Order: sequence, then C-alpha cells, then structure tokens
Amino acid sequence: MKVALLTLENPNLVLNKDYAGGFGGGFTTGNSIFSKIFRSIRKRNEIWPLISYAYAGAIFRKEGHEVKAITNEIIDADLYLIQPSMADYSNEIQYIRRIRKETKAKIGVMGPFPKAMPHLFEPYVDFIALGDPESILIDIAKTGNIPEGQVQIRPVVLDELPYPAWDLFDYHKFGNSILLEGRPTLFVQGSRGCFYHCNYCPYLVIGDKHSIRSPQKVVDEIEYLIKNYDAKAITFRDPLFTGHKKNAKAIAEEIIKRGLKIPWMCETRLDHLDKETIDLFYEAGMRTIKVGIESANEEIIKLANRIPIAIKHQEEIISYCDKKHIKVCAFYIIGLPDDNHETIAQTLKYAKRLNTPVANFTVATPFPGTLFYENLKDNIFEDNLDKWDSFHSVFEHKNLSKYEIEHYNDKMFTQYYLRSRYILAYFRRLFWSS
Ligand code: SF4
Repeated sequence: MKVALLTLENPNLVLNKDYAGGFGGGFTTGNSIFSKIFRSIRKRNEIWPLISYAYAGAIFRKEGHEVKAITNEIIDADLYLIQPSMADYSNEIQYIRRIRKETKAKIGVMGPFPKAMPHLFEPYVDFIALGDPESILIDIAKTGNIPEGQVQIRPVVLDELPYPAWDLFDYHKFGNSILLEGRPTLFVQGSRGCFYHCNYCPYLVIGDKHSIRSPQKVVDEIEYLIKNYDAKAITFRDPLFTGHKKNAKAIAEEIIKRGLKIPWMCETRLDHLDKETIDLFYEAGMRTIKVGIESANEEIIKLANRIPIAIKHQEEIISYCDKKHIKVCAFYIIGLPDDNHETIAQTLKYAKRLNTPVANFTVATPFPGTLFYENLKDNIFEDNLDKWDSFHSVFEHKNLSKYEIEHYNDKMFTQYYLRSRYILAYFRRLFWSS
C-alpha cells in the first residue's frame, strides 16, 4: 500500500499545527510594526512537526508499506492520512475535497479537531480516528483493510510503538531556537495525556488517560536519535512531563547515567517542580521549561477548573530556573470567561514581575470537545473556523468586547517585551550564554 502523510501549509498563516493540543495554534498578532516583527521571528525560528505523522509513518513502514510525507501536493497513493487543524480548516477541507475528486485514494483524518467535529469531515473522508490513531493504523498496516466512518481506538502500549520515522521529513530543519538551541531538535514522548481537568485544555480532547513509558526505553530512543539523526536537542512532547514525577526523574537519572550530553525542553506545572528536581533535570540537560501561568487571578484560575499554584512558589521556581540559566516560557490566557479590565491588567503586571525569557499570550478559545466549549457553546458567535487560532475572540464575553480582548492580547506582547527590565535581562542572559 502507498501511504501519503499530507501536511497542508498555508503561506498566509503563521500556524503551528501541533500547538493547542493538536488543534493548531496561530500567531496572528496585530498590525503594528512590532507585531509584524514578532510574527516574522516566530515564523523563521519555529519548524515543528506533528509527531503523529512520524509515528504513522513508522507503523506503515514496519509492515512493509511505502510511505511518503508530502506537503501541499497530491500524489498517487492508496491512503492519505491527514491531521487537520481548526484554524486552517477552509484551506484543508478544499484540499481534502480535491483528493476525493482527483484520486481513488482512501482518506483518513486524525487528531482532536476531527474527533470533536466529525460531521465537518464525514462527507469527504473514509474514516475518522476518535483518539490517538495508532491502534487503527496498526490494524490497517497489518490487514490492508481501511475502516469506515468514525472509528474507536484501542489503548496502545507506548513502549511497543516503533520509533517515529523522522527521516520521512526534512528533519534537519526541526527546532525552535527561541526556546532551545540546536537543530535538528527531535521530539520524544515520555508520556501521553494528563490527569488534571483544566476546562479549557485542548490536550484532553484527544484523550485524558495518562500513560507513561519506561525510562530506559525513552532514553534508548534519545540515544537512537543522537546516533541516527544527529539530534542536537530534544523536545519532550508530553502535555505534562512530570505527571508521574518518579518516572520523569528516572528518565533524567538514566540520561545522566548514560552520559548523554544533549539539551532538552519539557512542559509541566510549576507545582510539580522543586529545587532538587530542577537540579536533577538541569544536570540531565534540561535547558528550557514551558509552564502555564494562565492568569494572575486565583479566582479566574479556579473557575476554569484549574488547580491554582501559589504565587510564592511560582516566583521561587522561576527565579531559581533563571539563576540556573534555564529558560522559562510562560503561557498566559487573555479573556477567560471571568476576566475583566482589572484582572487582565493584573496578569500583565504579574507577567512583567516574573520576567521570564519567553512569555506567550493567547486569547481564551473554547476548543470543541472541552468543557469550556460545552459551557459556552450558546455564546459562540464565530462561525469562521479560520478565526479559531487562539488570537481571535470567538465567544460573547460577559465583561469585554471582542475588540478589547484581541487588542489586549496584541498589546501584551509589546508591553511585555519592549521594557527596559526585560531588555536588560535579555542581554544578561545572552551574555551568560555566550
Ligand atoms: S495541567 Fe496542563 S495539560 Fe493538564 S489539563 Fe491542565 S492545561 Fe491541560
């Protein structure tokens, strides 16, 4: 069987299809000169693939099928696999319709967006994977039978999956030098899922079961990536790297034990970190950490069903990371349902106080399949799915207008980065790293 893994790129968008839990996250800041500069920096620096494609490629290859990873083209294939993103829906669905019209190939879609809104795809595709697709892909690869309609998944043992086939892609370019130096940066999952229930979290749409891998197998994979792909850095693509803290520490200990010298990045919650864990992770190569702050207002956090993290602890851990020259990327959400002018100002002030090397601000987006969406679905006014890029307001907010939310979010970037305290810290960090 000939299998095509189709990536659809839209030259008009700065869109990372792996972000927002796989719904795709845009970067459509406003039209000021600084916004355009931020956009261009991001576009040039971030080349970040979908790990689901690399797993799919490996599964089909293992059974002897011919696999091609293609971008914006239609080739002769028996099966197309596509992970569509919400913010590029209009472009992607046109492509899917073209494949349907111009070829005899079967089409399967996967990822959280088609899982949450299968009716958008059903007329044009053969099957829709309702979760992480590997069990379905293994069945197809083994039997050659393409399923139809919405297909339930079976849990898989992560350690039994073949290593993602990065060589199908132009992997030398992969990385994001704003966050972590080193190309290629390759991607590893030490775990999947998350057991928290933040109501806006798009990661939970694909599946909320938390599963872990054996630390030895994870580090075997890292060694394999260094040896076979000359990986210069590793990004752990776990929603919550320290979800099972003992396991995450065992991964770090194993990296140290094997003497691997490779920088890595992960994403977690600040309340999962203490100085001892940071020391261990640093020794093992952790140089960047992504954390959700979301809002400075504890009430807003609680109303979003997120367990708040004490401000004192957040400040202590971030300052400790800074002292150790670990880059912290902090995420903030603007326009959560209970936000108002005052709480947004509070969040900006707090972000400035934390003064992390990277801060990312997005507009609260009720992705379908989340509890946030269920709570708000009657207030959603935005039918144009291309606007669901985490930079546009899509629901009627009780305290703020659409313009105010988007304007605040845009302003956050300039007000955060164009400050003397940030610029001084930037040069201090740069001086240290050089
Ligand atoms: S802790 Fe992070 S990954 Fe887990 S549910 Fe909350 S936002 Fe999602």
